[in-house]
Amino acid sequence: MTMRVYQAVAAAVGTREALELARRLTLWHDAMVIHRRHTGDEASPSCEVDCPHEQAESLWLDAVDAYGERAQEFAFLRTFGGGSGHQHHLDRHEVRV
Ligand SMILES: [Zn+2]
Repeated sequence: MTMRVYQAVAAAVGTREALELARRLTLWHDAMVIHRRHTGDEASPSCEVDCPHEQAESLWLDAVDAYGERAQEFAFLRTFGGGSGHQHHLDRHEVRV
């Protein structure tokens, strides 16, 4: 599981928006990996406004919009952004990077 999954899915979709979003997702992924070293998987009181936890939700919605079913391949993003308590019960082990 690497960040290349974003590029691969974007390339498969092939639109300008898809590629642009992949770039943002890659940046977010980097930021999230660093951020969760400090805060953990859950958003915490030390999270600032607009931290990667918060960004995950809108990015996930953008990803579903741009990539449809393929967005499901973004397990890391889905864990943080797609967990509105429906459909998926995500195992913590999936979150490992
Ligand atoms: Zn946070």
